[in-house]
Amino acid sequence: MSGGAAAGAQTYYVYADGSCLGNPGPGGWAAVIVKPDGASRTIYGGDPSTTNNRMELTAAIEGLRVIPAGARVVLRSDSQYLVKTMTLGWKRNMNSDLWLKLDHEAGERKVRFEWVEGHAGDPLNEQADQQARAAAAIAGKTGRLHYHGLPIVDEEPPASAAEFGEDDATVRELRPLLGAGESVRKCGGCGRAFVAAAGHSGRYCQLAPCQLKARRSARQRIK
Ligand SMILES: [Zn+2]
Repeated sequence: MSGGAAAGAQTYYVYADGSCLGNPGPGGWAAVIVKPDGASRTIYGGDPSTTNNRMELTAAIEGLRVIPAGARVVLRSDSQYLVKTMTLGWKRNMNSDLWLKLDHEAGERKVRFEWVEGHAGDPLNEQADQQARAAAAIAGKTGRLHYHGLPIVDEEPPASAAEFGEDDATVRELRPLLGAGESVRKCGGCGRAFVAAAGHSGRYCQLAPCQLKARRSARQRIK
């Protein structure tokens, strides 16, 4: 193995930025993800009551999360708090919940954290900054958490009625009682029938072991 493996053709780039209107106050985050083939996607979200640092961390976590495990990633941020904590081991006095998540996502990939000067003309940093500000404004206006990620891709179509097995009688009785948009599915984790809410496109029930399987699978990752 040669040392100093440089970012090469198979590298993903994440431009992560956070923004907060007041500290604390309504905040937003955004991550512009550039795939090895050059195509890019932006994901973003917001929180009605948060801090700038929490939004910077969230941008990095969510940006990494959609990249396949094992991939090489360069994550660029204008937050010294984020980059120096990760590269120089700055002491973590606050936001331990988010550092735990960031450590986990970074550990799953080969990530290099790079600090970039904010508002220095890097177009993708500017794009992340603008989207994070817009996301903060949405959180301020609606007073709600919001998240705009990648479309969830179903690995398998919902089970047909014939596949429910021991849950069959229950499912037959339940079907007429479903609300608009609800459906009965067979969980890809435990195999039991469950009710999926309107707009829910996943194939796992809400039990913790099944959600763990769902979150480990690659279905929400960038295509
Ligand atoms: Zn399940």
